[in-house]
Amino acid sequence: MYKGHEVCSHTVDHPRVWSVPLDQLRWEILEDRRQLEELVGYPVRSFAIPYNWPTGQDWCREFVHGCGFKYMRNSPSVPQFEHPSDFMDWHPTAHCSSDLPALWVSMLQRNYDQPGQLFYVHRHSYEFEDDWG
Ligand SMILES: [Zn+2]
Repeated sequence: MYKGHEVCSHTVDHPRVWSVPLDQLRWEILEDRRQLEELVGYPVRSFAIPYNWPTGQDWCREFVHGCGFKYMRNSPSVPQFEHPSDFMDWHPTAHCSSDLPALWVSMLQRNYDQPGQLFYVHRHSYEFEDDWG
């Protein structure tokens, strides 16, 4: 399932990151990364924050960066195709849903001749099981 995709750490128990003690949060993040790296066989450099970015909780970004991550996926999705200005506050283009084909066409029509487009789709891996084909 992960072949050809970048796997992101997403914590072990999917807590609201601002509501758990820091020692527990560190374990949630690093243990998930350890297990994923064992599974996929490459360094996991991205963290996808469960739920969404807590407004006014900027310490989360520094905390996650301090855990060794280079990128952090935030929510909600934003239907844009440019690279993020801050990879620790990276909003995906779309959640993998029924509007995906229309967004793809929109990107091709609006920016087809421009370099550096980015179409970033996110989804929990278990959500792919039903319709990944
Ligand atoms: Zn989640």
